[in-house]
Amino acid sequence: MAAANGTTTPAHEHSAPSGSTPARKPLNPLAQTMKMQLNYDELTNCMRCGFCQAACPTFIETGLEAASPRGRIALMKAVVDGIMEPDQSFRDQMDLCLGCRACEPVCPADVKYGHLLEETRDSIEQHVEHRWFIKAARKVAFKQVFPKQKRMRLVGKLLRTYQKSGLQKVAHGIGVMKLFPKNMRDMEAILPEASGQGVVETFGTRVPAKGPKIGTVGMFRGCLMDVLFAETNKKTVQLLSEAGFEVVIPDTQNCCGALHAHAGEVSQAKELAKNNVRAFREANVDYIASNAGGCGALLIEYDHLLHDEPDFKEDAEWFASRVKDVSLLLLEKGRLPAFEHPADATADGETFTITYQDSCHLRNVMRSGNAPRNLMKRVANVNFVELQGADRCCGSAGIYNIVQTEMANQILEHKMEHVKETNAHMLITSNPGCLLQMKLGIERENLSGKMEAVHIVDFLYDRIKS
Ligand code: SF4
Ligand code: SF4
Repeated sequence: MAAANGTTTPAHEHSAPSGSTPARKPLNPLAQTMKMQLNYDELTNCMRCGFCQAACPTFIETGLEAASPRGRIALMKAVVDGIMEPDQSFRDQMDLCLGCRACEPVCPADVKYGHLLEETRDSIEQHVEHRWFIKAARKVAFKQVFPKQKRMRLVGKLLRTYQKSGLQKVAHGIGVMKLFPKNMRDMEAILPEASGQGVVETFGTRVPAKGPKIGTVGMFRGCLMDVLFAETNKKTVQLLSEAGFEVVIPDTQNCCGALHAHAGEVSQAKELAKNNVRAFREANVDYIASNAGGCGALLIEYDHLLHDEPDFKEDAEWFASRVKDVSLLLLEKGRLPAFEHPADATADGETFTITYQDSCHLRNVMRSGNAPRNLMKRVANVNFVELQGADRCCGSAGIYNIVQTEMANQILEHKMEHVKETNAHMLITSNPGCLLQMKLGIERENLSGKMEAVHIVDFLYDRIKS
């Protein structure tokens, strides 16, 4: 349990009761690192009640205790206690976890599973020897591309050239894509049009509020969002301005670091976080808006990520306390415009039906899953239908659908069974990864033409009543 004064104990400071444990051989290096990095109080906080099992997608799909939150926590503890070797089967279970954190809101002991997973993956990453091409790909992606917005922009321009110049059609025609795994081929086909021009290039770094100003919002533009979903980013700025906020977009901000933190690159995530904290602190904003659940969930936990960095602790707390998802910010603080869907817009003459797939991180970490639903219900002439199992991960989970293809496909297939039951014209979500995964599901189920996957901001902005 946590100490009475609220402090927590790292695993390496914990000692087993004397005389209760037989002599064990020395811990292997990975177990040693885990012992140093994992919070032992969190490990022992798990009282093994199993309430989390029913919320866990990998447990639901496999029925295996080891693929459940309770099972994974037991595995981590067994490694730290030296009872079990952190062998391949242990690492496989850590890899199979989506990191969706659906196990957290249902946990009566408030176990911070996400932090344990992050610390475990970071420990594994320090010891695992990847094959040369994986090492190279990780280095390029995590160190050379995602952290550098100018390079992301260049990637956007190159991708746009590929999509618009006819190269994509040629590549498909001569079968080049067949050289890639099926999931990557499917993903390539549903990628939205990339952009070399993000929010700052479009609006500059400051956009005034429409009407009397309510407050100043710092917009977190994201790395991928500003390249693959630049239009959504632009509409986010416009929607916030319509709702009475002055919007500041610090140009020195960078990627949030979520992909890094989830892939065991915590020190790199910390460096990215420090730079973002500096950028928004200088801008001195009232709120920090995120329009991507995956990014927002790390931003709101920068205080945890930087808790052992004395020079940043206070500013990280300032930053984390201001982060809000755009839906919640609009709903709680904004001056909302009226929203209306054209009354006769459906081809079949039926009422326009919408449904919503949760972003796991928006729901489970930011705890803001109701805000998008409340906003959708404010739009006139639409029928909102709740999607069964909307709170269950869609299988996207960062790069999970690329590295854990089989499980991601299985989860998506089951998700789409419920999506079809809604008969919705539009499937709305609040995170770019979920949006791509939903587009993929729609394509695979041959629903294109009948159903469209859309970001909540695009849905709302396009329905502001004129
Ligand atoms: S719900 Fe919480 S305390 Fe219960 S088994 Fe799961 S993680 Fe442990
Ligand atoms: S993060 Fe998601 S997949 Fe991982 S143990 Fe928790 S509920 Fe299961």
